[in-house]
Amino acid sequence: MAQHCDFLIIGGGIAGISAASQLAENAKAIVLEMEDVIGHHSTGRSAAIFIRNYGNAVIRALNAASEPTLMNPQGICEGSVLTRRGLLMLAEEGKEDQLETYECQ
Ligand SMILES: Cc1cc2nc3c(=O)[nH]c(=O)nc-3n(C[C@H](O)[C@H](O)[C@H](O)COP(=O)(O)OP(=O)(O)OC[C@H]3O[C@@H](n4cnc5c(N)ncnc54)[C@H](O)[C@@H]3O)c2cc1C
Repeated sequence: MAQHCDFLIIGGGIAGISAASQLAENAKAIVLEMEDVIGHHSTGRSAAIFIRNYGNAVIRALNAASEPTLMNPQGICEGSVLTRRGLLMLAEEGKEDQLETYECQ
């Protein structure tokens, strides 16, 4: 059966589902996922920790842009979606200083 849409998104990970969710407010978006379930790959393995300095420069800019919404997701849900929790970080001998640069929440 033929289907028509305004946006065709390849991949049902957090990126594709997030984009589809936003686009679906004003358009018809279809997500194509090659696995049987969405979130099967990286998304399903994420520890779901907000790490400010995670990834390359583009990702770090996106992290910074996302933080205010994560702290105060008005119109999405009530209260912050970030909660404090424990995290055990390990570093190889001689690389202990890298623990200081890890900015997570
Ligand atoms: C072990 C682990 C821990 C992590 N912990 C954190 C964390 O604590 N904090 C954090 O911010 N990030 C973390 N990450 C990173 C985070 O999970 C990823 O950056 C994020 O999930 C990427 O989402 P994505 O939608 O881009 O990719 P994916 O989740 O990989 O989604 C891509 C989707 O596209 C589908 N696809 C690919 N090609 C096609 C095709 N041709 N046709 C149809 N479908 C296709 C795949 O099947 C997949 O479902 C972690 C990652 C791993 C592996």
